Amino acid sequence: FQTQQASKHIAVLAFPFGTHAAPLLNLVLRLSHTCPDIVFSFLSTQQSNSSTFPVKLDKVKPFNVWDGLPQGYKFGGNPHEPVQYFLKAVPGNFTMVLDKAVAETGKRIDCLITDAFYAFGADVADELNVPWVALWTAGPRSLFVHADTDFIRRHVGINGPQEDKSLDFLPDFSGLRVADLPNGITSGDFDAPLPALLHKMGQALPRATAIAANSYEDLDNTVVNTLKLRFNMYLNIGPFNLLSSSTVDDPHGCLDWLSKHEPASVVYISFGSVVTPPPHELQALCEALEESEFPFLWSFRGNPEKDLPQGFLERRSSKGKIVAWAPQQKILEHSSVGVFVSHGGWNSVLESIVGGVPMIFRPYFGDQGLNTRTVEGVWGFGLGLEGGTLTKEGAMKALKLTLCSEQGKKMREKIGVQKLLAYNAVKPNGSSVENFKTLVKVVSNN
Ligand code: UDP
Repeated sequence: FQTQQASKHIAVLAFPFGTHAAPLLNLVLRLSHTCPDIVFSFLSTQQSNSSTFPVKLDKVKPFNVWDGLPQGYKFGGNPHEPVQYFLKAVPGNFTMVLDKAVAETGKRIDCLITDAFYAFGADVADELNVPWVALWTAGPRSLFVHADTDFIRRHVGINGPQEDKSLDFLPDFSGLRVADLPNGITSGDFDAPLPALLHKMGQALPRATAIAANSYEDLDNTVVNTLKLRFNMYLNIGPFNLLSSSTVDDPHGCLDWLSKHEPASVVYISFGSVVTPPPHELQALCEALEESEFPFLWSFRGNPEKDLPQGFLERRSSKGKIVAWAPQQKILEHSSVGVFVSHGGWNSVLESIVGGVPMIFRPYFGDQGLNTRTVEGVWGFGLGLEGGTLTKEGAMKALKLTLCSEQGKKMREKIGVQKLLAYNAVKPNGSSVENFKTLVKVVSNN
């Protein structure tokens, strides 16, 4: 494929942390499949590109941008630190490489697709005089609170003693409190790089030609309808996990292991791609697992030999399986999984819906608290922990409730209804499929 022959050239700017670049590449691959005459330049850091791009692709070319790290930087364990350095380097690191992408493809840029985090996408697109499409990789509620940050601040004040105040002045938010909002909306360090970025994002997104989101129309309908009024074009085109056709990589044999268990009996544990709970919470969860004796499968970030209580691995080896990485989506679709203990990342929520598995949440940062309270208080197919953190008693209670009670059964029924709606959205003529066709028109300009 000669890039000069391409009808159009689309530049894509990824956010290289957490689970952001992978869904963006997923979207680009779908667009590329539908529009084979378009060439894409995908800009992210070298580390992100090398883990996101499985193979060399014909029409999607990765370009590496500077990660902003000082020379000789050594990661000290704080996942926010590399993000802060990176955010100091944007947008200059991207715009430099955009010139390179134009030179290498021999084609001017016809459309800009960015992670929605990048408010500067509005200015870059204006300068290029092209449409700006933003991909929002999290849930509609968190987008809503970032878009409405100024209004929320005016309503509840900032850094005040309002933690328990209800958010009932927002559409369908009466089950949520101020304390459930992400850090940096009404409390915290507003000038810290990420909160500042998200605040700017909320102000810039009305300038986007279209916002694509990894969700589906029937999930959080009231909030989605409000977002549609707020933005030029708000298109739910997910859940992405139902639309990508990646091969299953299961080197640790998780799926075979699950097949040896009873239906809906196994606890699946994963706190996403970044988070490892602090030592005292790990201890508490291990104690809860030992005492309750439920079989468990744990995708563990860190070194289990070092980080888990002494003797736990030996004692639990017959009941549990701990792996460094797991085919999560397939695991959640396996009939043996009874509950998902999660940090509440948006992709995890969607994958649990598609699997029809109720959730127990221990949120840590960002939108995780909001997702927790939404699933627990609005949708009713998951639980937060008593006191919000992992304690032995709290974890045991939540496990028993979800796995062995009537209430747990009801949660499974409720999430089963959402599962059907999610599948409907991606059927031929389903809402996500139709929205995707609209998006194709925007990016291909016809
Ligand atoms: N994931 C996975 N295997 C694992 C742990 C996580 O495939 O062992 C995937 C999971 O399926 C999801 C993503 O990593 O797609 C985590 O995304 P989420 O938004 O839940 O959390 P984040 O990593 O952004 O904190």
